Amino acid sequence: MTTTAFPTTATPSELVGRVLGLNPGMMTGPGTNTYLVGRRDPILIDTGAGVPDYVPLLERYLGERGFTQPSRVLLTHRHRDHLGGVDQLRERFRGLRVSKMRHRDAGLPEPIDDLRDGEVVHGEGVTLVPVYTPGHASDHLCYYLAEERALFTGDVILGGSTTVIPADDGDLLDYLASLRKLLDLDVRRIYPAHGPVIEDGPGRIREYIEHRMLRERQILEALGDRVETIPELVKQIYVDVAPALHPVAALSVESHLKKLAREHRVREDKRPDTPSRWTLI
Ligand SMILES: [Zn+2]
Repeated sequence: MTTTAFPTTATPSELVGRVLGLNPGMMTGPGTNTYLVGRRDPILIDTGAGVPDYVPLLERYLGERGFTQPSRVLLTHRHRDHLGGVDQLRERFRGLRVSKMRHRDAGLPEPIDDLRDGEVVHGEGVTLVPVYTPGHASDHLCYYLAEERALFTGDVILGGSTTVIPADDGDLLDYLASLRKLLDLDVRRIYPAHGPVIEDGPGRIREYIEHRMLRERQILEALGDRVETIPELVKQIYVDVAPALHPVAALSVESHLKKLAREHRVREDKRPDTPSRWTLI
């Protein structure tokens, strides 16, 4: 996606501004969206990856809106492309307060305040409610903007692609529970951390759930046909996907198998030096 197709700054609503983290890539799409929320001294949600041009872009946008600085920073989760900009922001805005849910963290840009599910954050004309949504990352918070019935979804729902469930800290069973929790909120619009605004929030959340359920059925079917290792499963299920993306697909298949194992529906037979064999129970 080019910058003309996806502007580096935007004002999607009266209460919400967007500044791009300028870190495009295969996993980040056009880059990480950072959002400014409030009528003045806005709250900043996420900080990008720490790209040097980000802070000048943010300052320019703040100036255009007649703002002087962000009042504080809320992070969705610990991944580098969301908190990588904290240090440079603190150099520019001394004493900037940063909050996230503290959970199994190491090497955070301290000090970082702990923020928990339901601990409401008030800004200028805005109310943000943190919603604990593990699955993509175990420390993930979405933020519900009550005034717009909108949701900042971080990496739980994305504008352009599906969410990766990393093998180390992700959990598909938790992720699906998080999606169902979001469906229970009264959500209209979604502001994702990557890609454009999603107008039909509930529709997209349902699509995400259905997409995972489809993959699960494909995996169960393949296991039934004695396709038993992750590389073989990827080859069979992701026939239409470019081989460059197969490592990502392998992560997805692994997350499904781990979920099914947690549900006692499949069994892993670990082998030394070769991929595990997975079978139906
Ligand atoms: Zn992430």
